[in-house]
Amino acid sequence: MTMPIAAVIAPVTPLQQNCTIVWCTKTMKAAIIDPGGEVDRLLKALADKGLTLEKIWITHGHMDHAGGAAELKVRTGVPIEGPHEADQFWIDRIQQSGEMYGMPEARIFVTDRWLHDGDKVTLGETEFEVLHCPGHTPGHVVFFHRETKFAQVGDVLFQGSIGRTDFPMGNHQDLIDAITQKLWPLGDDVRFVPGHGPMSSFGAERRGNPFVGDRAVAAMKAEGAAYHAPANHSPG
Ligand SMILES: [Zn+2]
Ligand SMILES: [Zn+2]
Repeated sequence: MTMPIAAVIAPVTPLQQNCTIVWCTKTMKAAIIDPGGEVDRLLKALADKGLTLEKIWITHGHMDHAGGAAELKVRTGVPIEGPHEADQFWIDRIQQSGEMYGMPEARIFVTDRWLHDGDKVTLGETEFEVLHCPGHTPGHVVFFHRETKFAQVGDVLFQGSIGRTDFPMGNHQDLIDAITQKLWPLGDDVRFVPGHGPMSSFGAERRGNPFVGDRAVAAMKAEGAAYHAPANHSPG
């Protein structure tokens, strides 16, 4: 039996953000998750694989993830879904932060659908579940395909690290709670694409992640207010 979905990662922008092209293998309809930029290259990748773009999905409002969404929508006419509306203030800043980080082409976008915890988004003849995972940004969402145990988690979780929470409206405890209470229950065998860096699985991170692994969580519980999280030098 062929898998119902397939995916390729196309790192974009100077921050090497893991833009992901996912598609329904039956209909060859695709979604681009987090088109931070380099829209020409993304459109070429779609054409090379014979895919038809159906959706643009956004995990959160940072420019390296969403800076190319407006252009991609204008050029293809497909709707943008996500993130959660709590990220509007980040979306408003995309152009400004793009200029600061060497992405002058980054543009503000208007979503066609804000997403909320428990929502479903369809792609061809399959669907993904939406989890609202605040902490890195307040409106961050994760896309999860239950059948194949595949997730695109943006800057929530990385191999060996978690998202930065030192931005405005960032919240370290919210992020820890989202990962341990919403992501871990999906199963150790879930493979995920993070916003930056290599893929991993929830099981591997529960075993070894110094921020949210089982040992770190046990230490947090045991030490309470005395617990000091390790310094976070994550890329996103
Ligand atoms: Zn990022
Ligand atoms: Zn981010």
